[in-house]
Amino acid sequence: MATLTSMMMRYFRARVAVSIAIGAALAAGMSARPALADPPPTPDEYISHVGGDAQVLAPGEFVLDGARQQCGQRPTVIDNTLDDYGAAYPGFLIMNPRLLDRVSKPVKFWIYAHECGHQFRGPDEETADCFAVQRGRRQGWLTAEGLEEVCSFISPSKGDSMHFSGSYRCEYMRKCYADPGVR
Ligand SMILES: [Zn+2]
Repeated sequence: MATLTSMMMRYFRARVAVSIAIGAALAAGMSARPALADPPPTPDEYISHVGGDAQVLAPGEFVLDGARQQCGQRPTVIDNTLDDYGAAYPGFLIMNPRLLDRVSKPVKFWIYAHECGHQFRGPDEETADCFAVQRGRRQGWLTAEGLEEVCSFISPSKGDSMHFSGSYRCEYMRKCYADPGVR
């Protein structure tokens, strides 16, 4: 039976820079809980599964550094127990304010935009990265300097089967950022 954690890996999520120890501890805790059925959960199902103080915010209600974040009509679930900065299921985003509070504004915005990219572009990580940096350039919150902050943020990530290494991702994001055509 799939645990919530393993299902999330099957769906798309950002793997940014999370401690393996924390992730493993959460996975161990979650595996004792009942599994959610396929297909992906609704925001309410997700919240009732993780418990705690997780809550769902309507589209446009999630705020980062004073700025409302919008991802079409997708709601955002706030989950301070998520083992990463952000994640996405088809239909909604999950944000972890406890971790997001620790990073700079462009990095925060990039994480939200990356998860939003999955909503519109699918599970591919490079494509979500490209979506995020081009959105940042277009909306004016991502400068070349900000992109370097994103790069140093993800540089400790180790590549795995789903996620390229941070340096490879950055090389691609720099190309996307410089590309006037929308990908
Ligand atoms: Zn992702």
